[in-house]
Amino acid sequence: WEDGASSNTNTSFTFNAVPPVVQPPPPRLGEVLDFEEENATTFGHKAFRPGQREVVAAAMRGEDCFVLMPTGGGKSLCYQLPAWCCPGLAVVFSPLVSLIQDQVDSMNECGVRSATLSSGSSDYQSVAAALGALPAHGDYKLLYLTPEKLAHSGHARSLLHRLAVMGRLSRFVVDEAHCVSSWGHDFRPDYLGLRILRREFATIPIMALTATADSRVVDDVSRVLGLRQPFSWRSSFNRPKLDYQVRHKGNKKKQVLKEVADYVRQRQNETGLIYCLSRRDCEKVSEELQNALPGSFARKISFYHAEVDAAEREDRQRRWSRGELKVICATLAFGMGVNKPDVRYVIHYSMPKSLANYYQESGRCGRDGLGGQCVLYFSFKDRATQEVMIRDEKKNGPRDAKAVDQELHALRAMALYAAEKVKCRRRVVLDYFGETGFDPAKGCRDLCDNCRDKRPHEERDFTSHATNVVKLLRQITSTTPTRAGGAANNITRAGLVDAYRGSANRQMEKIRATNAPLFAAGSRLGKKDVEQLVDRLVLEDVLSERSVENSSGYNNDYVFQGSRARDFENATPNAKFTISVRLNGAGAEAEAARRRAQQQRGVDPRRRDEFDEGPAWLPQVARTPA
Ligand code: ADP
Ligand code: MG
Ligand code: ZN
Repeated sequence: WEDGASSNTNTSFTFNAVPPVVQPPPPRLGEVLDFEEENATTFGHKAFRPGQREVVAAAMRGEDCFVLMPTGGGKSLCYQLPAWCCPGLAVVFSPLVSLIQDQVDSMNECGVRSATLSSGSSDYQSVAAALGALPAHGDYKLLYLTPEKLAHSGHARSLLHRLAVMGRLSRFVVDEAHCVSSWGHDFRPDYLGLRILRREFATIPIMALTATADSRVVDDVSRVLGLRQPFSWRSSFNRPKLDYQVRHKGNKKKQVLKEVADYVRQRQNETGLIYCLSRRDCEKVSEELQNALPGSFARKISFYHAEVDAAEREDRQRRWSRGELKVICATLAFGMGVNKPDVRYVIHYSMPKSLANYYQESGRCGRDGLGGQCVLYFSFKDRATQEVMIRDEKKNGPRDAKAVDQELHALRAMALYAAEKVKCRRRVVLDYFGETGFDPAKGCRDLCDNCRDKRPHEERDFTSHATNVVKLLRQITSTTPTRAGGAANNITRAGLVDAYRGSANRQMEKIRATNAPLFAAGSRLGKKDVEQLVDRLVLEDVLSERSVENSSGYNNDYVFQGSRARDFENATPNAKFTISVRLNGAGAEAEAARRRAQQQRGVDPRRRDEFDEGPAWLPQVARTPA
């Protein structure tokens, strides 16, 4: 499984079957082996991991299967073992040639004869030779293909038909099956071509496997592949040994870079991964770290993104896998196929575009089961940047409105995770994945910043302020004349904050002049508080922030009504806006006093719609555990 160890490609012949190292007698056609025994003997495992036995048994009964297991959970065995134990050949679709080569090599080492049709080849003769070779070798148990191969090679397809006619196909396996779904974070159009499997080979059972548990993805995959009442296994996606924390980035980039450098400095013996959003950030973070750290260590820091030359990219990944590089600053291009077990920390310098992405990327930490830290840096600016990227038609081409909505929905879940100050981080992720019944007391054990934070907290009602802000936005945008004399004017997030507080600055004069009735209605509130309120309204889609090109061709981010704004304007029952806040030491005492006073006056202390003590509601920066 060492990265880059797969060099034994037979170049003169496209059929890359490697002679098995050990060659046990191949099972005779029609013979079914005992899988419990074979797991120990042929595969060398002492036991099954959770779910493997159940899935293998279902596969042996010939059922369709849907396997959801986190990365490293042992999905491969779920199809390799039945492939070995059943007569015939299992055809496995896997997205990457490098992954395939690893699998083929390791299976051949166990004596489970495996092959792939390499996807680069278009040489008719070698492909034809491969087609001829397979049926003659009854002992091949696994044939790996990329979906691209199936989509673009008529030969591959006719090979499958020939095998089917001969009754030699035991099963189709779709690994990394989330690639089928456009909801997924790794959608690949060629994966959609796999829908022909059920259509053209109706009787062959299908097994789909993925580590993406997003329930919409699961439904989508099942539908596209046409699974028939599949045996479904879902392992818990909790990674009990990983530590999760979120840090607020604010606007002080220098400060964050220093913090990251300090973090890395304390872990010079450990391997880490730093995810950045842009290529420029990868290079910048890498350079800053190199400057901040001693020369001998600086050489072990590098970056990785799509613009780095392919050979160089591969080299950096290999050196990192071997431990020669300790830190890689990478875009999400760095990921699939990376199988380094002892990654000790994954830092997100910027927030990814979905919680599924975050789970996947942070999950590259601690695959050896020895734990690790996942640190997410969050700023509202990053969220806005992500939204701009999702909506960007220049880059993406004209966008399907439904696809944009889906991605915005996923982004919202990600941002809410980051902004959460009270709920267990694991709980938020597992809820999103539809995994119910998770108990933070047992499953987290204070391995997240929110669970560690023992200060009291409470849910506060900000409905009236939220309603005010929404109405104020309407008043301003419908009354302020633009310079060009238009009816509506745009306002930035900062502008809306100032307007609600009635700040006295020059920009505000124009807005004050509109005589919007709710101008300055929040004058009693602190600036930070109103900023937080507006940010939160954007996060929860009461307001929305979008980039608009102005007359001079510059882009500005302005706030608009979000999809929930109407509820607040019309005071429907859905117009509820509560936020869980932490109470600081001093704040907690003041809070207790306030409650006592209110109780004496007969007021329900939980019905509180104003926040007058700033500190209690300021963002709480997560602390690193000692
Ligand atoms: P996944 O595809 O779910 O990410 P893999 O199938 O690649 O995970 O398995 C991860 C690692 O766990 C591999 O090194 C594999 O050999 C090992 N493994 C899988 N099942 C078992 C088992 N029952 N006992 C011991 N090791 C196992
Ligand atoms: Mg796998
Ligand atoms: Zn927790």
